[in-house]
Amino acid sequence: MVTVDCHLHLGLMPEQVPEWWLEEQFEGWAGSVDGDDIVEVLDAGGIDIGMVQGGDIRRTTYDPAHPGDHHVYTPNDYTAAECAKHPGRLYGVVCLDPLRDPQAALAELERCVTELDFRLLKLIPTYHHYSPDDPRIDPFYAKCLELDIPVMIHMGWTRTINAPMEHQRPVHLDRVGRDFRDLKVIVAHLGHPWVDEGVAVVAKHPNFYCELAGWAMHGPGAVYGALAKLKSYGAVGRVLYGSDNGDTRDLYHEANRIAMERDGAPVLDEREMADLMGATAARLFRLP
Ligand SMILES: [Zn+2]
Repeated sequence: MVTVDCHLHLGLMPEQVPEWWLEEQFEGWAGSVDGDDIVEVLDAGGIDIGMVQGGDIRRTTYDPAHPGDHHVYTPNDYTAAECAKHPGRLYGVVCLDPLRDPQAALAELERCVTELDFRLLKLIPTYHHYSPDDPRIDPFYAKCLELDIPVMIHMGWTRTINAPMEHQRPVHLDRVGRDFRDLKVIVAHLGHPWVDEGVAVVAKHPNFYCELAGWAMHGPGAVYGALAKLKSYGAVGRVLYGSDNGDTRDLYHEANRIAMERDGAPVLDEREMADLMGATAARLFRLP
């Protein structure tokens, strides 16, 4: 059974990401991550395939202590080059700023999918200062449908201070789900700390999925709680494994241990665990 980590970040410091930005984002940790580093993470966790993303946050990056330093940009071509070094292990995620130059961004999305074989689009509304139900983003959802790829959307908290919290709430995805019923949407981070909203929106829209990247900081009890809620809504089969660059498999096994203690049954049965660890992602991203 194939295993897939759908949420991994590339970036070279300081050429692509300034040190101050990484320190703010990762609580003091800063360093470069290339394709070799990601494959090391995958190997350590026994994961077959990683979906890797760069990013372009040049337009909205700002810190009063570093007013001229907003070059947060890991281009898609860099991601493609790292994937090419690790065929079959790494696949690209299209990263773009839909509001910087919308026509160019739409063309970039198409180019990455048709020419570079990228498998999904990542949007980061809070970092780019828009809400995911902003009509200006609709052409990107339509393009994903046309290209037949899913869109992963960062929903929830981030340490980046300049990212407005009002754009982090999963309820803003409901209009997207209503107007684009066939669009496959992955709610990244399940909207933590607005987990109930995240569960509700995923459970309501049959083509919505979610992942718990970054939840290592919240611990297995929180993971158990989220999975139990998703299960009660019949949506636990639509969770993907995403790590934010680490081996976080234990969170899910620990959640099962907690469920055994509390409920006398695992929150993920064997089939659901296999789906979460890669089978669902392999289907969504058309992986071998
Ligand atoms: Zn991330």
